[in-house]
Amino acid sequence: MKEIYRGKAKTLYEGEKDTAVMVFRDELTAGDGAKRAEKREKGSINAEISAVLMQLLERHGIKTHFISFQPPNRHVVKRLRILPVEVIVRNIATGSLVRRYPFEEGRKLEPPVVEFCLKSDEYHDPMLNEDIALALGLVESVEELREMRRIALEVNRVLREFLREKGIVLVDFKLEFGYDAEGNLLVGDEITPDTCRFWDASTGEVMDKDRFRRDMGEVIEYYREVRRRVCGG
Ligand code: 5GP
Repeated sequence: MKEIYRGKAKTLYEGEKDTAVMVFRDELTAGDGAKRAEKREKGSINAEISAVLMQLLERHGIKTHFISFQPPNRHVVKRLRILPVEVIVRNIATGSLVRRYPFEEGRKLEPPVVEFCLKSDEYHDPMLNEDIALALGLVESVEELREMRRIALEVNRVLREFLREKGIVLVDFKLEFGYDAEGNLLVGDEITPDTCRFWDASTGEVMDKDRFRRDMGEVIEYYREVRRRVCGG
């Protein structure tokens, strides 16, 4: 397969017609790629979790790039023109929010807080506003940003409800968007413990990539537990 793009945790290959094959690798990175490790099984666990969550969104009428899951670690997806924008939704204040602003750690955010950031390791994903996104040519109109915000909040509602039933608190997450060949705005990338914060609803235990970022240990064990709850089995 011809490689189109190699990211920090996934590789994208050319597929048939307007499709691509996204391979989830076993690498974990943090700090804009400064910290790296390889954890066996991580790619397949994330591929399975993301497949279930993307299909959940589709069932709720949210359009995504997901077409099919090819176990153990591949997704067939629609080819997108990905926007270099990360859309973050937060239900609880933690992480970079409490480092940058005077929020109390663990404070509930009602309504949820949406942030747009430039996807750039070099610039450390700086926050965007509408003017900067337009001036950089990331989008052609502010309506595109408003549409991403609307979809991201809808994704939050659907994921939160689903995960609550599995005993998982959706603390925050990051989405990426892109346009398909027909010009539809779709949710792209992945929805996994690499891109979301998940806390155990009864114990408050961290079940996501913060275990790696903060050297808490048992990274794969907790990813497996998320898979067990989200995918069953
Ligand atoms: P924070 O801004 O607090 O570091 O991250 C907020 C949420 O977005 C977390 O769930 C985090 O995993 C996700 N997130 C933000 N930026 C990135 C990124 O560059 N890569 C990944 N994988 N997730 C991110």
